[in-house]
Amino acid sequence: MHILLPTLFLLAIRLDPKMVILLAPFTILPDFDAAFGLHRALFHSFVPIVILPVALIIYSKLKRPEWMLGALLVQFYLASHVVLDLGGVAFLWPLVEDQMYFEPIVTFNLQGGVNFDIDVEYGWKPYEPMTTTQFISESGFALIFLGALMVVVFRKEALGAARGAWRIIGDTLSRLRR
Ligand SMILES: [Zn+2]
Repeated sequence: MHILLPTLFLLAIRLDPKMVILLAPFTILPDFDAAFGLHRALFHSFVPIVILPVALIIYSKLKRPEWMLGALLVQFYLASHVVLDLGGVAFLWPLVEDQMYFEPIVTFNLQGGVNFDIDVEYGWKPYEPMTTTQFISESGFALIFLGALMVVVFRKEALGAARGAWRIIGDTLSRLRR
């Protein structure tokens, strides 16, 4: 989810696919804070998610205009990670240890007509230290299954896209080696 949703969105609005794919690792970078026993805190807080990327954007604006697209993509990818993690993230860490959460709950029933109800739960909850992170969530599995199904249905298009992505990675690697 963290990788696919933002990268597919950026590819859909036709940004430079090379940049979009090369910078995609930033979508999952925040989860490496699990290695320090501070999951959903250390790299999910406002310092790495907002202050550092904004500093990079300002630096690009002043000194390196050619970095601007990359800096904006880094900011978008990092922010998208925290938005997808809003079920519980210590965004104000280390100022506030608690995790904030924001969970829209959509319910639906057919008793006496069609009833939709959207309930948003939000607030703060105590920080739960997590040293392990779930590598693939239930919705992640659903997405992978859906993706596999799409690949089977659209074999020709999928093969073309895979070749295109492979060419971009190959080009970049050979340029780095030079
Ligand atoms: Zn995360």
